[in-house]
Formats: sequence, C-alpha cells, structure tokens
Amino acid sequence: MPFVITDPCIGTKDSACVDVCPVDCIHPRKDEPEFDTATMLYIHPEECIDCGACVPACPVAAIYDSVESTPASQKTLVEANALFRTGEPDAVAKAEAIVKSHVASHPELMAIDPNDRAAAHLKS
Ligand code: SF4
Ligand code: SF4
Repeated sequence: MPFVITDPCIGTKDSACVDVCPVDCIHPRKDEPEFDTATMLYIHPEECIDCGACVPACPVAAIYDSVESTPASQKTLVEANALFRTGEPDAVAKAEAIVKSHVASHPELMAIDPNDRAAAHLKS
C-alpha cells in the first residue's frame, strides 16, 4: 500500500520527505520545474517501497501510511498523489486541479495552521 501526502503539506512544502526518501518517489523536488507552482508534494504509488522514512521526517504529519489509513476528508488526495507523475501530458494539471478542489471544499481545514491541520482530519 502506498504512502499518501495530504493537506498539511499545503503551505508547508518544505521537502523534508524528499530528502529522506530512498527511491526518489516524492515530487516535485526543489530542482524540478513544477516545484514553484505545485500546491503540495505527491508520492508516486507504484514507486513507493513503503519504507516509512518520510513519516517522521514530515514536520506537519501530512503523510499517511496507506490509502486505508488516509482519513475520509483526505481521500480525494489519494488520486492526486497517483496522478502527478503518470507522465501523461495533463497529469500535473489534473493532480493540481484535485488539490485546488479539495482546498475549495474544505475551508474549515485550510483555516487551520498546517502544524495543527492533521489533528483536525479525523474530525472533519
Ligand atoms: S514510504 Fe519510503 S519510499 Fe515511500 S514515499 Fe515515504 S520515504 Fe519514499
Ligand atoms: S515533509 Fe511533509 S510538509 Fe514537507 S514536503 Fe513532505 S509531505 Fe510536505
């Protein structure tokens, strides 16, 4: 089961997870062109080896260890993680559109500081 990045990454995006991932499956990296405009980072589900290194590295608890453990309020972001690096011409735009829709539909979460947002996931 792949690990999944969720919305506390929005507004944080510090790349701490990228630095510890042994298989370079978290994107965009800071040296990639999409980094500046990406709303958050994404884990490629087929490249992730489930090592767990990224979870303690994330300062805002944005990463869940499976699709199943991802809270209901964050489930749409599972698809965004999966889409971002498919290589299809519109994949990045589609992933970003999902994230922007998530932001628009969860003003209550976006109003919370990223440091405290994960704690609110189970209540939303
Ligand atoms: S679980 Fe391991 S392989 Fe998967 S994204 Fe995190 S650090 Fe990378
Ligand atoms: S460590 Fe967490 S907040 Fe930082 S880029 Fe990775 S998922 Fe986003």
